[in-house]
Amino acid sequence: MATLNKHTVKDLQAKAAGLVCLPGTPGYDESVALWNGAIHRRPAAVVQCTSAEDVAAVLRYAQEASLEISVRGGGHGFSGSALTDGGITIDLSKLREVSVLPLDKRATVGGGATWAELDAAVQEYGLAVPGGFISHTGIGGLTLGGGLGWLSRKAGLSCDNLLEAQVVTADGRILTASASQNADLFWAIRGGGGNFGVVTSFTFALTAVGPMVDLGMFFVGLEHGADLLRFARDITRDLPDDVGAFVAGLNAPPEDFVPPDVQLQPGYAIVLVGLTDKVDHVALAARAREALPCLFELVTPIPFVALQQMFNASAPWGIQAYEKAVHLDELTDAAIDVITRHVPLKSSSMSFMPVFCLGGAYGRVEEDATAFGGSRSTRFVVNIAAIAPTPELLETDTAWARAFWADLVPHASGIGGYVNFMAEYDDDRVRAAYGAKYDRLAAIKATFDPDNVFHLNANIRPTA
Ligand code: FAD
Repeated sequence: MATLNKHTVKDLQAKAAGLVCLPGTPGYDESVALWNGAIHRRPAAVVQCTSAEDVAAVLRYAQEASLEISVRGGGHGFSGSALTDGGITIDLSKLREVSVLPLDKRATVGGGATWAELDAAVQEYGLAVPGGFISHTGIGGLTLGGGLGWLSRKAGLSCDNLLEAQVVTADGRILTASASQNADLFWAIRGGGGNFGVVTSFTFALTAVGPMVDLGMFFVGLEHGADLLRFARDITRDLPDDVGAFVAGLNAPPEDFVPPDVQLQPGYAIVLVGLTDKVDHVALAARAREALPCLFELVTPIPFVALQQMFNASAPWGIQAYEKAVHLDELTDAAIDVITRHVPLKSSSMSFMPVFCLGGAYGRVEEDATAFGGSRSTRFVVNIAAIAPTPELLETDTAWARAFWADLVPHASGIGGYVNFMAEYDDDRVRAAYGAKYDRLAAIKATFDPDNVFHLNANIRPTA
């Protein structure tokens, strides 16, 4: 692979409008710092692009100079694919403007913004876009891969709510992708990840939620894990769409609402959120209390933006991490046995097993409506996240995550997967994640990126 020298750096600086950051110069360290502190890659240069035209210029330059390209959205990916070693990283962190049209219920946001920024802007009007559970995650990677979170049951995935995107393709064209313009590209970027171009802005449909929602969190000790998981299986069968549901195997947080002797103890939690006042949250909380011997609970109205930030401290920036995930159509007793056998074996108190409870609006979207890899019949996405402050502990819990995953896979629904929950993109897993959609994605990739310029991602190989 080619590299930069003082002449080619000057060329790049002449062509790029944004700041060109080289090792040791201002901006570089910020741009190469990722959420996953276990990943260390050193691009030859990072360009903090300031517009779609700027992205196009840098893309053209990098290809003429035969330099590898990576795209950094929020920098939150487990795999670290936002950075290249030795090539040019297109850093979108300067593209984070949000504009809201409350009467039209739509918002447009820059490709490098975080969910916290979008949430804050749209919540001014009591509106929201389905995002993820951690609000310092980037809009870019999360939406392009799919986007699961509190609003999945009410309004589907983040990508289900995408109306339009501005996409800079590998050849430097600036395209609009929507249902009526470049429809194939629009289909592909709703689940197909960063394979098709650099998305400089996203326009989303907005849903009425908040500003306050009803939180109900119920925590039991390890010995009651199976009870809690069976309760989650049963209660989520007939929940209204307006309830967000989430389960986790985790250590109790060291927060004031947790009794001192329970803080940091391992156990399981179910969180049931009434997203609108159509939900009888009092009755919902009563069902949880009756079914579960809780060590503590937290039942209170909270602002929707606080809900979106509730787990931020559990996954701080710079921590070291690895993850795998399994999609289940049902939480069978056999799957529950596997889960309750493995959760107690983790070593890091930060490692945890978040389970996304789906159904509702998520499940009513046609399978082929988007490129999203996961099946719409999946009711539970079990995520196994090794999170640790030291490399040694990360190694131990990476082995835990792999062993847990291997034992749970036989219980998986078998179709589809979610590329955003992969820390490693091996070809077979990416193909398996997209299943029958892979061939269509590969053909679209051949149209928009025939040379596979965007290959630092869950890569779809262009059809020859
Ligand atoms: P980056 O690391 O910046 O980007 C990852 C890849 O996405 C890049 O390599 C690039 O290929 C592509 N990309 C990013 N932005 C753009 C863009 N604008 N244009 C083109 N390509 C782009 N996912 C969920 O669905 N729900 C969750 O609740 C959830 N929680 C998470 C919690 C944690 C702690 C972590 C680490 C991840 C979580 N994820 C969740 C996964 C998350 O969706 C992915 O990690 C996602 O890739 C992060 O996006 P980013 O832009 O911050 O990442």
